[in-house]
Amino acid sequence: MLSRWIEADELNFIKQYENAHNKLEKEVLRQAYATRLLGAENDLTMHGGGNTSFKTVITCKDGSQKRALFVKASGTPLSSFLPEHFVVMDLGFLEGLKSLNNFDDDTMAREFKNHQLSNDDLLPSIESLMHAFIPARIVDHTHPAAILKIVNRIDGGELLKECFGNELAVIPYARMGFDLAKAVFEASQKNAGCKGVVMRHHGLIVWGEDPRAVYERTISVITKAEDFLPRKIFRSIAPPEVGISVDVSIQNYEKVKLFIKERLTHGAFTLLNPPDILELINSSDGKAIVCDPPLTPDYPMYARISLQWADGDINSVPVPAADTFPRAVVHPKIGVLCYGADESSAKKTADFVHQALSIRRAVFETGGTYESLAAEFILDMQYRGYQQSKTHLK
Ligand SMILES: [Zn+2]
Repeated sequence: MLSRWIEADELNFIKQYENAHNKLEKEVLRQAYATRLLGAENDLTMHGGGNTSFKTVITCKDGSQKRALFVKASGTPLSSFLPEHFVVMDLGFLEGLKSLNNFDDDTMAREFKNHQLSNDDLLPSIESLMHAFIPARIVDHTHPAAILKIVNRIDGGELLKECFGNELAVIPYARMGFDLAKAVFEASQKNAGCKGVVMRHHGLIVWGEDPRAVYERTISVITKAEDFLPRKIFRSIAPPEVGISVDVSIQNYEKVKLFIKERLTHGAFTLLNPPDILELINSSDGKAIVCDPPLTPDYPMYARISLQWADGDINSVPVPAADTFPRAVVHPKIGVLCYGADESSAKKTADFVHQALSIRRAVFETGGTYESLAAEFILDMQYRGYQQSKTHLK
């Protein structure tokens, strides 16, 4: 993965927004620019899967100085991120929570509101405490496909060590919010000199003092992971006995489209049928890979727990249903029918399904045994109050 940082673009971005945010120091604008660059890569931060932060000191209305955390608001897109999408919070208060043993979501939401220094309705990211607990000025958090390909397998932690040595610490999945923040902080303290932490079944966090250096650290970690995995490849999926082309998939889709449309009471659906997906779902290894449970909480949140495999007559293909399982139906002769509240959310479902299947396929082809998110966490994010606004069907 290449760095997208271009000095001229950075300066333009700062120029464009510095008047609107004339009380903000330039470094906040540079971190907002870095956030957009992370958002430009689907394999890092698809549909908002990630967040960034910046720590500084601000002058309050009464003239007093306060240490502040600027953290991405929940649900704001990274690719079109603006400086006003940072929520400003009382850093001293958040850091003080480190000594607690637990902190439930309702209390977290309430205390976040009470200690918000910016006067707006934005909700700070559920991962804000993780940003607050890491002492570095800049923190970037992403959900990179290249890292998930390495760690979402049995013995994934060992494989990550083989690739990164002590450069990155690795922790088991922890529930987002307070538990994750504590686990990441403790790992950063225990592994002196590490440049970041990988959270299994979730993603990556890196930190430092300069927005560009930290952004480029993420890029260099991903590049190393991308270079490492192909060296492991020793088996490919069995080639399909009877494959189908994109054209045939579209012809078959046209035959069922009306049937599905007539039965959908609301919402929209789209067809996911690029050649790699058609090859996978027609391979004899495909069904097992497709039907595996999800790898991170992002996938059940958007695409629900599992995809439905349907290989009967194409005229009897099940209709993806509204907010009940599944949101994606796989038919080897058609492709994957993906459902959402509207066209853009159907496309979101398709993007998550495509990425999930590509990651699982890579685990298989690099000799791994895929390991899904533990069952106790699979439904957690989907039904968690703090996250509800993100995925509700209208
Ligand atoms: Zn995350």
